[in-house]
Amino acid sequence: MTSTKLTSFLSEKLEGLKSQGLYNEIDPVEGANGAIITIKGKELINLSSNNYLGLATDERLKKVAIDAVKTYGVGAGAVRTINGTLDLHLKLEEKLAAFKGTEAVISYQSGFNCNMAAISAVMDKNDAILSDELNHASIIDGCRLSKAKIIRVNHSDMDDLRQKAKEAVESGQYNKIMVITDGVFSMDGDVAKLPEIVDIAEEFDLMTYVDDAHGSGVLGKGAGTVKHFGLQDRVDFQMGTLSKAIGVIGGYVAGKQELIDWLKVQSRPFLFSTAVTPADVAASTEAIEILMDSTELQNRLWENSDYLKKGLTQLGFDIGNSETPITPCIIGDEKATQQFSKRLYEEGVYAKSIVFPTVPKGKGRVRNMPTSAHTKEMLDQALTIYEKVGKELGII
Ligand code: PMP
Repeated sequence: MTSTKLTSFLSEKLEGLKSQGLYNEIDPVEGANGAIITIKGKELINLSSNNYLGLATDERLKKVAIDAVKTYGVGAGAVRTINGTLDLHLKLEEKLAAFKGTEAVISYQSGFNCNMAAISAVMDKNDAILSDELNHASIIDGCRLSKAKIIRVNHSDMDDLRQKAKEAVESGQYNKIMVITDGVFSMDGDVAKLPEIVDIAEEFDLMTYVDDAHGSGVLGKGAGTVKHFGLQDRVDFQMGTLSKAIGVIGGYVAGKQELIDWLKVQSRPFLFSTAVTPADVAASTEAIEILMDSTELQNRLWENSDYLKKGLTQLGFDIGNSETPITPCIIGDEKATQQFSKRLYEEGVYAKSIVFPTVPKGKGRVRNMPTSAHTKEMLDQALTIYEKVGKELGII
């Protein structure tokens, strides 16, 4: 018999979440996750995917993925360190290193496990990590897994970072100290102050780790936030994901050869979890080649995001401090946020509500992710719906 204690405990917890408006309903997408999606038979303008450059549905990526399946089959067959490393994995890693401007790259099955893997492979209980308070969950979990002392830094507050770095160094308690930050913050779309962070890191001899999940493909002619600021030689770990702008799945760290060699012998998902499939690796490599050849998709992404942001601001929505295509409409109250998203859905826009614990309590928002695949007509239609629902619910 299964445990009744477990089911009653969980039912109570789930009811609690539902009554506070914190229960996330999952809406399966019927078909491709493009600029227009279908959910429960209804066509919607999609403003919720991370498919920034439309590459998840790009014909060139589909073709190389199909070819890879024909040649290599559907699975890699083993973990990377036994015999799951295909020549395709190495080609991807070489391309990524050239794209990022580093000596070498190691790739993983996802961005999430990449952070868990890389942080915990390098840091341990004798170390400290200075971590921005708005860093992504996978950074937080990676830091916890490492057992290093986690020192939370106020969001993008350089005085706080300097002070805490100084205290950590002067305490003499730690072997190594790392400063870790998102390159682009995923819920607000603001960009980390990397030039100042790197200066502080050099002043106090700290390691630097940038999670560029939302900067790769978007900033720095596609190569990311570190390149955007010209800091390729001053950041130790350039982490990225292949699942957002690149359109596929996977994560990676770009850095010095010694770092990558160490991660290849020490990071547990690389050692103990099966390698990414041939189709995914081939498609990611094709995406990187496309980004290295041309900035056309990025230019279109930025045009669309500027257009949407301007439209929402003119309507009177609060889009916070976004400096990138990530465009939050900050509502505040969790239930009001969910109601707003529900009405947008009914009118034909899919813009997901994001509430606690993904963002702090009282900071609920509907997050818009314009992509290069949206047309002006789609964005105009979305803005008309935003105006209607915003007025109806007294938000604008
Ligand atoms: N870091 C950040 C900043 C992210 O936003 C995400 C995805 N939500 C990840 C890491 C994890 O990446 P992936 O989806 O490839 O696991």
